Amino acid sequence: MSKRILVTGGAGFLGSHLSEKLLKKGHSVIALDNFFTGNKRNINHLKNYDDFELLRHDVTNPIMLEVDMIYNLACPASPIHYQYNPVKTTKTSVMGAINMLGLAKRVRARILQASTSEVYGDPLPQFHPQQETYWGNVNPIGIRSCYDEGKRIAETLFFDYHRQNKVDIRIIRIFNTYGPRMHPNDGRVVSNFIVQALQNQDITIYGKGDQTRSFCYCDDLLEGMYRLMESNCIGPMNIGNPNEFTILELAQKIIEITNSKSKLVYRDLPSDDPKQRQPDISMAKKELDWSPKVELAEGLKYTVAYFDDLLKKEPDAFAEIR
Ligand code: NAD
Ligand code: UDP
Repeated sequence: MSKRILVTGGAGFLGSHLSEKLLKKGHSVIALDNFFTGNKRNINHLKNYDDFELLRHDVTNPIMLEVDMIYNLACPASPIHYQYNPVKTTKTSVMGAINMLGLAKRVRARILQASTSEVYGDPLPQFHPQQETYWGNVNPIGIRSCYDEGKRIAETLFFDYHRQNKVDIRIIRIFNTYGPRMHPNDGRVVSNFIVQALQNQDITIYGKGDQTRSFCYCDDLLEGMYRLMESNCIGPMNIGNPNEFTILELAQKIIEITNSKSKLVYRDLPSDDPKQRQPDISMAKKELDWSPKVELAEGLKYTVAYFDDLLKKEPDAFAEIR
């Protein structure tokens, strides 16, 4: 049955792919965004759908809409962007959650929160890979705290609205996800390295590059997100690709795929940078029959092709916000 679905952060990397997926499934989509890190080029092609609407709005302000479902993705996700105005980042997570939960409560809509592996902070080695039962190791006063603690209090709000007001919630904990439509100057490692490699610029390794991440291709992630929303499981649920790589391995793979002449350069490791991260996805396998399909080398090829094309067609995009 066709539903009216609100996607906050709908002009962003994941929000635009999600809006497209939902439209293709026959739903009506309202993409809401304040365009802080989102971009119209991500959603311009969706205007061909009669059932697509774009709304410029900031989730820190309340909004009255009539919808059946809400995917709450609005929040800058890359460290340079969420640290640019940290107070605003906390407001976006916390007030955004309150406003969207209030809307869900009023219209009795199911609501999904895009939470993050950052709720685990810098995980202690005995909690590797991370299971949903782990409470995390988070610095409450560091430069990542506006994002990590903002997302943690959003989870608290979701559970309290659920217990207190019977709001129908879902919480997904997303692990590092990459793919086409990431902002070229987003600052996250995959887009940074690809953009640097394509331009034969130095590849910036923070620290020694021995820290690890587990990279999930966007199509896999969104299938997991969609299945969670449609399931009876409220989560929180990890969705990510458990294949773990060091940052140096990632750089080497990208140099190989792009056939780049870039050299590696080493920069200071930002404070509180997690040393290792890998999702335990047993819950997603059991509850959603979900596991990722796209290997890193394959996903990187699609992402390189996107940035290569963008570099040729819209070189100005590479000079936008950093
Ligand atoms: P993104 O920066 O591309 O998308 C975020 C979108 O939210 C942007 O379009 C931005 O303009 C919008 N936005 C920011 N503040 C807003 C506000 N106050 N009001 C309205 N819109 C606002 O990042 P993304 O990777 O697509 O992330 C989407 C969501 O998924 C975020 O909530 C993020 O925390 C979460 N997440 C992403 C990852 C990942 O690896 N991509 C990992 C964990 C969690
Ligand atoms: N990183 C890096 N060079 C870059 C950007 C990031 O070495 O140009 C490192 C960063 O320090 C971190 C990892 O890559 O250890 C992943 O960073 P990202 O910002 O993508 O995500 P997060 O740290 O939030 O997982």
